[in-house]
Amino acid sequence: MTIKELLRKGSQILKDARIESPVRDAGVILCHVLNCGRLYLYTHEDNVPDETYIKTYINLIQERASGKPLQYITGVNEFMSLPILVTPDVLIPRPETEILVEKVIAYLKKINEPKTNILDMGTGSGCIAVSIARYVENCFVTAVDISSDALSIAYFNAMDLGFTDRISFIKSNLFEKVEKTQYFDVIVSNPPYIPSCEIESLQREVRDYEPEIALDGGADGLFYYKRIIDESPKFLKPGGMLAFEVGINEALAVVDFMKKMFCNIEIEKDLAGIDRVVSGFLR
Ligand code: GLN
Repeated sequence: MTIKELLRKGSQILKDARIESPVRDAGVILCHVLNCGRLYLYTHEDNVPDETYIKTYINLIQERASGKPLQYITGVNEFMSLPILVTPDVLIPRPETEILVEKVIAYLKKINEPKTNILDMGTGSGCIAVSIARYVENCFVTAVDISSDALSIAYFNAMDLGFTDRISFIKSNLFEKVEKTQYFDVIVSNPPYIPSCEIESLQREVRDYEPEIALDGGADGLFYYKRIIDESPKFLKPGGMLAFEVGINEALAVVDFMKKMFCNIEIEKDLAGIDRVVSGFLR
């Protein structure tokens, strides 16, 4: 089969499986298999790839057709213009999370300290940690996660982008293993926030493929916010920032929990107009 025929066949399989962007996904998967750019496909439409490539391509198309997210197939997702390695051990970074990262970066640039310390609680793929390290000079990030598999991915991403000297990793259940020897300028977190009873009704791509441990926020979805808000004052500098991504309809509850110990609390909306980021400063 030629490249053109492969694209047509792949798109048709994905379309029949009701995948949202069948043509785009077939193209991305073929580029991944042939290790080429998109333009190559259109300038070499009549090329016939080797049989092994064709087999791999059709297998991956079938996986996509059964709901596996494209990012777990290609193993990469762009976040803050950086290529982030992802596997099913970590959540796929979302564009909404860029709003959280931008909020933190803006604050760090504003305070313009010669050296700052940031804690990323529940780092997952490390997308928040590496992008802060990338865009803020002289900052040190401590990336915490309970999952060793996630930490290996986060470490790979830090290494791949050249930040292992400015990011350290701790395997810990929340703050349990974080030593109180240093105080942080910022604690940032995109914790699991889906109420347990809503996991079943998530899109199948998310429900069947993304790690439940990264999604399930307990009965009301707010479990991790309460724990992090309660404990972070012990780890923050006076006036330090606590910033969260929050789930739909969770912002006001999170603001409420923060009020006792934090001031200048702000909510940012995402592009869909949903309250998405809550931040405040330790009193
Ligand atoms: N910090 C990672 C992210 O924002 C992981 C979040 C999570 O697993 N809940 O993508």
